Amino acid sequence: MPSYNKNIPVFLSEAEIKAKVKEIAAQITKEFGDEEITLIGTLKGSFVFLADLSRELTMPTRIEFLGVSSYGDQTHSSGEVKVTLDLTAPLNDKNVVLVEDIVDTGLTLSFVLEYLNARKPKKIKTASLLFKKVALKAKNLTIDYVGFEIPNRFVVGYGLDYAEHYRGLPYIGTLD
Ligand code: 5GP
Repeated sequence: MPSYNKNIPVFLSEAEIKAKVKEIAAQITKEFGDEEITLIGTLKGSFVFLADLSRELTMPTRIEFLGVSSYGDQTHSSGEVKVTLDLTAPLNDKNVVLVEDIVDTGLTLSFVLEYLNARKPKKIKTASLLFKKVALKAKNLTIDYVGFEIPNRFVVGYGLDYAEHYRGLPYIGTLD
């Protein structure tokens, strides 16, 4: 069996991530109570976080994915974003929680928020498991639920890739 995953140093352990996902779910529950929400995950990186988060929530949830791709290279975002896969249902009058794996420059989140707001949801909140505050370039960006503020290092695992590798790593590791 290939064992390349074993060489990735742990930055955030499975237990730390699990506890944080529970915390974020509690914050979302405090905000929306028993009202229905639509969780929108941006592909591909958020699929693991969204899967775990959805299983900690007890209100009715709808799940949507939005495919977005940045025109940057492997490790740098250019800020120009294109939608590669659209939502399957309208958002008007829906409570929306946008689920992001990581906010780096914030340019992707900024674009996605504008894109979703144009669909007139009732309320929209943003959750990001990881936030590289020092790298933030987007202005006036609010992340309502932040898991971990992390330094400007390249991380993989728990959905995050490097050239499509390591998404299945159960923890978050560094690849500097
Ligand atoms: P932003 O637009 O905020 O600069 O970053 C958007 C995207 O860049 C993220 O959704 C993610 O795909 C990628 N990205 C930024 N930092 C990292 C990182 O440390 N690791 C990985 N795997 N992707 C990252």
